[in-house]
Amino acid sequence: MTQNSLLNSICVYCGSSDNGPAVHRDLARELGRHMVANGIQLVYGGGRVGVMGAIADAVLDGDGTVTGVIPDFLMRREHGHHEVTNLEVVASMHERKARMAELSDAFIVLPGGLGTLEELFEIMTWRQLGLHDKPIIVINPDGHWDRLRELVDDLVAAGYARPENARLAHFVSNPAAALAAIEAQLTGETHIETGRL
Ligand code: AMP
Repeated sequence: MTQNSLLNSICVYCGSSDNGPAVHRDLARELGRHMVANGIQLVYGGGRVGVMGAIADAVLDGDGTVTGVIPDFLMRREHGHHEVTNLEVVASMHERKARMAELSDAFIVLPGGLGTLEELFEIMTWRQLGLHDKPIIVINPDGHWDRLRELVDDLVAAGYARPENARLAHFVSNPAAALAAIEAQLTGETHIETGRL
């Protein structure tokens, strides 16, 4: 990937649990290393645990820059990560998501649970509404997100989502492909249409 001045920071949404497959935390570390190698900062939810902790530690280990945004009430539950470059403690979940989006040039979704899904759907629907036009990439390494993709296709088949809006999240299988897809969208090589609702 070439250095792209349009791409300084990526927001990564992912699981806060350590109970998922270890390969997902390995995948997060691999993404973190790719981001550092390309001079891209990490913006994430600010925790020390699960897939979230794995990517933050990988970026920090490579001397990369990490900004965590975490609501005060989750500091204990998600083990707020005090070693990150910047830890922003905010008042609410809504403030957290708005700040993460504001600080980032693109979004990547790694394996995770309900919170990760909530974050993905919010950022997809914000793009559907024209509130931003930043790339959204889902890394689906081992089928973790296969049924998510099917669900979105079902919404199109039922007439509740437009086909172009179903493609607002682009699925890839590995971190290198994720960064390449983001670059292609930011440079206009890949054009993503946003349809009216
Ligand atoms: P999970 O995928 O459930 O492990 O959650 C991943 C991250 O999403 C965690 O940092 C959660 O705090 C966060 N999260 C969960 N629900 C929400 C929500 N409604 N809005 C914003 N973030 C959330």
